[in-house]
Amino acid sequence: MPKPPSLFEKYTSLQNSFSQLTENGQRNPFAVLIERPLSSTVGIIEGRETLLFGTNNYLGLSQCPESIEAAIEAARIFGVGTTGSRIANGTFSLHKKLELALAAYFNRKHCLVFSTGYQANLGTISALAGKDDYLFLDADCHASIYDGSRLGQAQVIRFRHNDADDLYKRLKRVENEPGARLVVTEGIYSMMGDIVPIKEFVHVKHETGAALLVDEAHSFGVLGKHGRGVAEEAGVEDDIDFITGTFSKSFGTVGGYCISPHPEVELIRLSSRPYMFTASLPTEIIAATLASLRVIAEKPELRQKLKDNSAQLFNGLREAGLQTGEQISPVVSVVLEDIPQAVAFWNKLLENGVYVNLSLPPATPDRHPLLRSSVSAAHTPEQISKTISIFKEIAKSLS
Ligand code: PMP
Repeated sequence: MPKPPSLFEKYTSLQNSFSQLTENGQRNPFAVLIERPLSSTVGIIEGRETLLFGTNNYLGLSQCPESIEAAIEAARIFGVGTTGSRIANGTFSLHKKLELALAAYFNRKHCLVFSTGYQANLGTISALAGKDDYLFLDADCHASIYDGSRLGQAQVIRFRHNDADDLYKRLKRVENEPGARLVVTEGIYSMMGDIVPIKEFVHVKHETGAALLVDEAHSFGVLGKHGRGVAEEAGVEDDIDFITGTFSKSFGTVGGYCISPHPEVELIRLSSRPYMFTASLPTEIIAATLASLRVIAEKPELRQKLKDNSAQLFNGLREAGLQTGEQISPVVSVVLEDIPQAVAFWNKLLENGVYVNLSLPPATPDRHPLLRSSVSAAHTPEQISKTISIFKEIAKSLS
């Protein structure tokens, strides 16, 4: 028999690109080790105190004392794992409590908690849009949304990023075709921090009869009077059919959810593989998330602080002559020309005690490398100005 090719043959070009990233002793940007967080804004990396500006910890709640205490207490009572899926032995009283609390927070009847935000999108989208249905996805939607479309085998139509007119045209083109239509957008986009013009999308939804799902992963806890996200901020919550989100950002824990006013969404519990065929979240995570939700509800001042901090970083980096996105949000990305420049800049930031995310094409919009910062309500103005001056000095030295 002829010898088949190696399973790793397809990775040759990935291996080459990766080798270029790490040549000349540069660090592997995808294997940064946080030896220990000292707070939600400072951690030890390479033995040094480092300012954390790439953790999505928008409200600083990963270190929230109430959430930590709730987790310890739950672990003592319930143990450290559920050892089962939501549809078998993995639904404890706390899972139900969190679903009820979240549904109530959104003024909705239905909430399903998944083990991650990735699975919430994968499980919700694949269950809603089947092979005879049309799924309209913003070109910049997260990988979990695109993966959900593959799992459900829906017919995918991409529309231009944040462009409701383009979506409308594409919906019109298939108006006489059978099959349901689901439109998916995000609240705040994770790479450039730009915000969806949700009212325009709601208008298109009403014009065309499509259902609308908004992933509020980066906007929950950030936008809206109560922090419910972009739909609350724009006053269109009643027009949204499904909201998905994650606990791994503003909540500071891990997990994901889908919220809906439609009772049929409960059927996802009986049909969605990412909900059914994985272990449920451990109760210490659920208890910590419940505690974080209480803090989010009771401390609107965290959102104001986050807004002020976001504006400080955004304006400071722009004044330093760096190219950012257009809108102020907690995701502040500096756009660079090419990968070697971005890698060198990122390495220097870390050497100078600032950690941000290095985001590389094809995961970035417009194929530009990004130095992606995420701001936290827990950052102090001094930490932000220090970071801006470090960015400025490095930009000067590299150009
Ligand atoms: N949606 C968006 C827009 C995201 O950015 C992310 C994670 N970065 C997810 C979903 C997945 O969330 P999780 O980390 O909880 O899996």
